[in-house]
Amino acid sequence: MKKTSTRLADGRELIYYDLRDDVVREAVDRRPLDPVATASEIRRDRLLGDSVAIASHRQGRTYHPPADECPLCPSAGDRLSEIPDSSYDVVVFENRFPSLAGDAGRCEVVCFTPDHAASFADLTPEQAGLVLEAWTDRTAELSHLPSVAQVFCFENRGAEIGVTLGHPHGQIYAYPFVTPRTDLMLRSLAAFKETSGGRNLFDDIVAEEHAGERVVLEGEHWLAFVPHAAHWPYEVHLYPKRRVPDLLGLDEGARAEFPRVYLELLRRFDRVFGEGQPPTPYIAAWHQAPFTALEGHAGINRDDFALHLELFTIRRTSGKLKFLAGSESGMSVFINDVPPEAAAERLREVASS
Ligand SMILES: [Zn+2]
Repeated sequence: MKKTSTRLADGRELIYYDLRDDVVREAVDRRPLDPVATASEIRRDRLLGDSVAIASHRQGRTYHPPADECPLCPSAGDRLSEIPDSSYDVVVFENRFPSLAGDAGRCEVVCFTPDHAASFADLTPEQAGLVLEAWTDRTAELSHLPSVAQVFCFENRGAEIGVTLGHPHGQIYAYPFVTPRTDLMLRSLAAFKETSGGRNLFDDIVAEEHAGERVVLEGEHWLAFVPHAAHWPYEVHLYPKRRVPDLLGLDEGARAEFPRVYLELLRRFDRVFGEGQPPTPYIAAWHQAPFTALEGHAGINRDDFALHLELFTIRRTSGKLKFLAGSESGMSVFINDVPPEAAAERLREVASS
């Protein structure tokens, strides 16, 4: 893998990740861009104890451009995109319309492939492995920024999820605080450690699921299952079998096997609603240990956290979406119409032959 870092015309950082070591990336961004004006502000909700990023500058962002104006395709002739070069393997750059910026964190875009019409599930194992390298490298680099407490790599896929650019890409949010979901997990971890005589809650959950009926896919290094209390109609949690706190902790075996396992999961997601259905909208979310001191979680350190990926779709059944309505949005109580055992069975049925 070769990494080349450069700057766009407005000063934002862009990094090429190439499979071949002899690739030279010298193209210059020729667009007349104004400096990025961002005004992210983190406001604290004192009743709920969580934070909201107020980012009014995002209202002007690119919204469903035609394919020939895609900002994530390589530049071609006079058609200048966010990527100055005429090709790339995987590329990461700072978002021009970030939700988090400056002291309030950082937002990056990860282009998985130069092929506009592809999806992550279409990638070769080599290319999916390169994306994993990029996620890992960005996690390491962003963890060194003083404003960053937690690094979140994720993909929103499909217009139903609110994706405004069709080009296959994901995002990285580097938050200046520990997110509420991670904080909840750390609380559960600390409470369980104290009451169980020092056991690790992640280890217990993975062991129980491994022995249970909701396993979807198992490799030598990875285990995928539908969790006992799945919130979403089809939801899969993917854990490395050896617990590590973040992507940096994965060993060579787990890295090498990841593309095969993850590509198979994504392909099953696209088959779950039957042949001829439009691609399944999904969110793929990497959970990593924060890089900040874990105040308020007595007896827990970041090595107790278990890196894992949560993959879920908001589609309930062909043509029907699960909306976050009164109970979910108003009270944070999910109602899931698909029993997790049935979801796991369906996800095994649609395995690649
Ligand atoms: Zn494109």
